Amino acid sequence: MEKQTAAIAGGGLVGSMLALYMARAGYNVEVFERRPDMRTTQGYQGRSINLALSDRGWLSLKELGLEERIREIALPMHGRMLHQPDGAVTFQPYGKGEQAIYSVSRSAINMALMDAAEAHPSVTFHFEHRCEAVQFDQRQVRFSGPDGSTQTRNPNLLFGADGAFSATRLSKQLGSDFFQYQQYYIDCGYKELHIPAGPNGTFLLDPNALHIWPRGKFMMIALPNPGGDFTCTLFFPFEGPRGFNTLTTPEVVKPFFEEHFADAVPLMPTFLEDFFRNPTSSLVTVKCFPWVYQDWFGLIGDAAHAIVPFFGQGMNCGFEDCRVLNGLVAEHNHNWSAIMPAYEDLRKPDGDAIADLAIQNFEEMSNRVADPRFLLQKKIEAWFHDRHPDAWIPAYTQVAFSPQIRYSEALANGRRQEAIMQEVLALPGIEHDWQTETVERLMQSRIES
Ligand code: FAD
Repeated sequence: MEKQTAAIAGGGLVGSMLALYMARAGYNVEVFERRPDMRTTQGYQGRSINLALSDRGWLSLKELGLEERIREIALPMHGRMLHQPDGAVTFQPYGKGEQAIYSVSRSAINMALMDAAEAHPSVTFHFEHRCEAVQFDQRQVRFSGPDGSTQTRNPNLLFGADGAFSATRLSKQLGSDFFQYQQYYIDCGYKELHIPAGPNGTFLLDPNALHIWPRGKFMMIALPNPGGDFTCTLFFPFEGPRGFNTLTTPEVVKPFFEEHFADAVPLMPTFLEDFFRNPTSSLVTVKCFPWVYQDWFGLIGDAAHAIVPFFGQGMNCGFEDCRVLNGLVAEHNHNWSAIMPAYEDLRKPDGDAIADLAIQNFEEMSNRVADPRFLLQKKIEAWFHDRHPDAWIPAYTQVAFSPQIRYSEALANGRRQEAIMQEVLALPGIEHDWQTETVERLMQSRIES
C-alpha cells in the first residue's frame, strides 16, 4: 500500500522533530523551510539564542533515540546564580540532587534534529521554500521556491510548524469566520550579548548555572556554551526612563552597564559593539483556536502557542506537542478524524497554561528573585517539599522536572500553592520562625482542604 504523505511548513525545532516522528510512524514527509539550510550556509544569520532544555524536551528526544546526541551539545545548569547589584552572588538550586535544566544552542539542536530527520529515508527537506497560503477547502498548500516559482501540494496531512508568525495559521484565520486569535506583546524586548571564553577555553563564570542579574524592571541572563563562552540576553523595556529608547549612544550605555552589571562588564569586552550591532527583538504571546482543521491540518509548536521565554518552555512545549501527537497516532491507529480533535483537546489547555506561567515567571525572574520575602517563600516551600515530597511539588519543579504533570495542572496547583504561601507569609514573626510545627500543620491542612 502506498504511504500516506505529510507536509510540514517550517523546519525549525518542532518541524524537524515532527518530521522524524511522522516518518517513524510510517508517513512520507516533506518539510518546507523558508530559510536556507543552516548546516551548509556560511555565517548562518539566525539568532545566537541559547535555550534551556528540560525534562519534557528530553522525554521526546529519548523517545526518538536522540538523547545521547543532544547530551553532547548540552550543558547542565543546576540552579540560578543571582548577581546582586552590590556584587554578592547567591545560588538557588532548581531542584534536588542532580536535577538540572540544560543549556543548548538553538541552531545546534535544530541542526541535530534536521540531521536525524533527514537520515530517515522517508523525510525530504526543501529549503528556501516559503509557505505562502493554504486552501483548506481544497486541502492544498502553496509554496514559493528560491527562484520565485510556485509549487502546490495536496498532502494527506499538513502541519503548520512555522513559528510565532505562522503563515499557515494566518491562512486559517483569513479563511474562517470563527478563528479566535489573541496576540500580546510585553513591553520588554531583548538583545543578545556575549561573554567570551577565558584562556584555553575556560569558563569565566560557573558553567553549571543560569546566571541572572535581576534589576527590577530589567534583567540580564547568561547561559553557558560548550566552548567556554556564555550567551547573554538583556531583557529591557522598550520605552521609559529606563528603556531601550534611552540607551542610544555608547556614552549612555557604558556607564549604564558599569552601574548595573558591574561584575559582568569586565568579562564582556565587546558589550558596546554587541549592543549596537545586535537587533532588539520583541516578545510575543499568541493564543489561538482552533488548532486543527478536520482530519487534515494541525498547528504545532510556536505556531499554535507562542510564549515569552521566561519559563524556558517554548521548545519543550513544542517537543511535548510532538510526543503527545505521536501517542495519539498509535492510540487511534492513524485515524486522523479522531487524532486531530484529541490532540487539540489535550494540548490547547496546556499551551494556554504555559503561556500564562511564562508571563508570571517574567515577573518572578526580573522582580521577585531579589526580594527577601520571595526568597523566604522559596525556602519554606523547599523545606516543606523535603518533608512532604509528594504533597508539595514546587511550581518550577512541576513545569521543568515533572513531565507527568500537565502544564494546565501545574498552573492550577501553582495558584493554590501561592494562596497558601501568602497565608503562611502573613504569620507574625515568620521570617525567624518558619521551620515550625505550626507552619507545617497549616500548610498540610490547606493542602488537604
Ligand atoms: P521556530 O523555531 O520559530 O521555527 C519555525 C520555522 O519555520 C523557522 O525555521 C522558520 O524559518 C520557518 N518558517 C517561518 N515561516 C515560514 C513559512 N511561511 N514557510 C516555511 N517556513 C517558515 N524555549 C525553551 O524551551 N527554552 C528556552 O530557554 C527558551 N528560550 C528562549 C529565548 C528567547 C530569547 C526566545 C525568543 C525563545 C526562547 N524559547 C525557549 C522558545 C523557543 O525558541 C521556541 O519555542 C521554539 O524555537 C519553537 O520552535 P518552532 O519550531 O515551533 O518555531
